[in-house]
Amino acid sequence: MTAHRTLKTPEDLAQAGLLDDRCLEDIRRVGEHYAVAITPAMATLIDPADPDDPIAQQFVPDTRELNILPQELADPIGDKAHSPVKGVVHRYPDRVLLKAVHVCPVYCRFCFRREVVGPAGDGTLSPEDLAQALSYIKSDPRIWEVILTGGDPLVMSPRRLREIMLGLKAIEHVKIVRLHTRVPVVDPAAVNAEMVDALLESGKTTYVAVHANHPRELTSEARSACERLVQAGIALVSQTVLLKGVNDDPDVLADLMRAFVETRIKPYYLHHPDLAPGTSHFRLDIAEGQRIVAALRGRVSGLCQPAYVLDIPGGYGKSVISASAVEETAPGTYAVKDFRENLHIYPPTSRSEND
Ligand SMILES: *Cc1c(COP(=O)(O)O)cnc(C)c1O
Ligand code: SF4
Repeated sequence: MTAHRTLKTPEDLAQAGLLDDRCLEDIRRVGEHYAVAITPAMATLIDPADPDDPIAQQFVPDTRELNILPQELADPIGDKAHSPVKGVVHRYPDRVLLKAVHVCPVYCRFCFRREVVGPAGDGTLSPEDLAQALSYIKSDPRIWEVILTGGDPLVMSPRRLREIMLGLKAIEHVKIVRLHTRVPVVDPAAVNAEMVDALLESGKTTYVAVHANHPRELTSEARSACERLVQAGIALVSQTVLLKGVNDDPDVLADLMRAFVETRIKPYYLHHPDLAPGTSHFRLDIAEGQRIVAALRGRVSGLCQPAYVLDIPGGYGKSVISASAVEETAPGTYAVKDFRENLHIYPPTSRSEND
């Protein structure tokens, strides 16, 4: 299936063969609540004949999104509680989020910010708001790292990115600039020389956290886009959401993590899905996530291991939630599980060592 422009309406999706005509009306209702966009690069990857296609699951709206559970939250990770000025979230002392845009190249059906992203969302920071955000960052010397997120910061024009980077360049205590983005994967051609130059403008050590959830997303075009960032001296890390029906399988995750490492993207976070409204069909139990992550541990290189994390609802930040491989069995004595799930006592008792 080939598409030449981003699909944005239920009609676009139906025309592209991605929707059953019968549910057009229901899908329109979903579209009224949550933004829809599928880039040509992602639409091309979808197999319309597969009702469980893992790419379609991520981007094609579904009537199950209208099913909102009582425990689901409009602001699932508590960003609002930690926003000192518009566009800034300051939860941890040494780093802040800077949200300059609230649009994305694609809209993920499981998005934790789905209530604020999209054309009808929180909009773009005005030049005045941006100046205020930068002066907040400048006023607090503890801020070592600035994380551009949104929305997706790489939907901004190179000119706008350059402005922000120059603003950060002027703040001496900021040493690291990080951008969280899906663009290298979902719109690889946008990562052109002009954009790469703009990203370098801060002169700071720059990291890009690339968001992808299924190994098929790392097409040769996506890998080339990442290569352009790496060649420019930008370090890459990954970000993945553990999603039922997309990647809740150690084999799929192993392929994804290997694809990252082959692309010089160091696996960083595997997120447990947040309690975003209308996303219960994507959520699995933490116990299930722990089993999948433990299986990954036994299966692939240490380079391919992300940290499995939960963003604690209410704004308390992220915690690693993988099952521990170590348990204290007596004071100073531990039982440690190896990658085959066998237990060993640490420190070893000298007798059993010689058996
Ligand atoms: C996730 C997050 C960060 C970044 O956390 P890291 O563990 O450094 O990746 C920073 N600030 C906020 C508010 C966050 O939600
Ligand atoms: S790209 Fe990120 S912020 Fe945008 S819809 Fe997807 S998960 Fe949400």
